[in-house]
Amino acid sequence: MGEFELIRRYFRSAALEKAGPQAAIIQSIGDDAALLQPALGQQLVISTDSLVEGVHFPLDYLPADLGYRALAVAVSDLAAMAATPLAFTLALTLPAVREDWLAGFAEGLAAAAADHRISLIGGDTTRGPLNLGLTVFGQVAAGQALRRAGAAAGDLLCVGGPLGDAGAGLALVQSQAAPPALDPAGRDYLLQRFWRPRAQCGLGMALAGVASAGLDISDGLLADAGHLAAASGVAVHIRAADLPCSAAVACWPEPQRLNWMLGAGDDYVLLFSLPARHRARLEADGWWLRVIGEVAAGEGVWLDQGQGPERVSALPGYQHFKES
Ligand code: ADP
Ligand code: MG
Repeated sequence: MGEFELIRRYFRSAALEKAGPQAAIIQSIGDDAALLQPALGQQLVISTDSLVEGVHFPLDYLPADLGYRALAVAVSDLAAMAATPLAFTLALTLPAVREDWLAGFAEGLAAAAADHRISLIGGDTTRGPLNLGLTVFGQVAAGQALRRAGAAAGDLLCVGGPLGDAGAGLALVQSQAAPPALDPAGRDYLLQRFWRPRAQCGLGMALAGVASAGLDISDGLLADAGHLAAASGVAVHIRAADLPCSAAVACWPEPQRLNWMLGAGDDYVLLFSLPARHRARLEADGWWLRVIGEVAAGEGVWLDQGQGPERVSALPGYQHFKES
């Protein structure tokens, strides 16, 4: 099967090309480049992610899960900017053409495209060690993007979902022992949260022009809170007792649970600072959010584990080029 036949068979499907809003797409797959037209008064939001086997995903995976996860993770950066997803491109490097792998991968990719309402508009296909490059495009009203800078002293610090699910899910993927209290439904929930995270696009859009700063938690709560604090020039205070976790994560004993909530990446829930006057309105509109602390004058991340706030010095979080 040649490159063109491969693209036609697996990537030129309505499920992928028509998954998102069509108004912005002037030219999709098939020409030398795609054409995108954001709506009047909207800014284009762009983010690129590379996924390398063994680094960004465990070696033991289902191709459909990989396709889903790759796109959801990329779209999470759009959610974190308060953008509406429009389209994405896929640069695919494959060691060999394996039809079962491609069929599964395209199916998972299409499921994520449908869930996040985003259309595939182009890409590139080459041979080499497995590598996925995804570029996502979205739009946001001019001046309304949710940036990392902008948090002010007195703002509430909030998360848009439970923490630690992906950390526990990864432990299950790696076949680590689970506590007896974790039932099969809890196990499925955690594996699903790891392999098929849902980017919080709806919440992100609701935060446009409302939250003062925000990002998605990909490196871990403490590390990402550190990014927000540094970009905003403020201190961020977190109360350990107020961190939300799922019933499944609550099956693990406290130290492990807290470790995942604070340090594990990959949850892809939004972390944002919110002027207190906006809280009631967001909750009345049905958005689930939890206040986990607040923004204060100063710098750095401060964690209160019941004995008062302590400065968190070494922020964990995965860094690719850090010397071991
Ligand atoms: P060129 O040689 O001009 O770079 P290609 O042969 O790489 O063109 O691609 C032909 C068309 O197929 C382009 O529209 C490109 O965006 C699209 N395409 C290539 N690979 C993929 C892919 N993996 N997924 C989606 N579209 C793809
Ligand atoms: Mg090309």
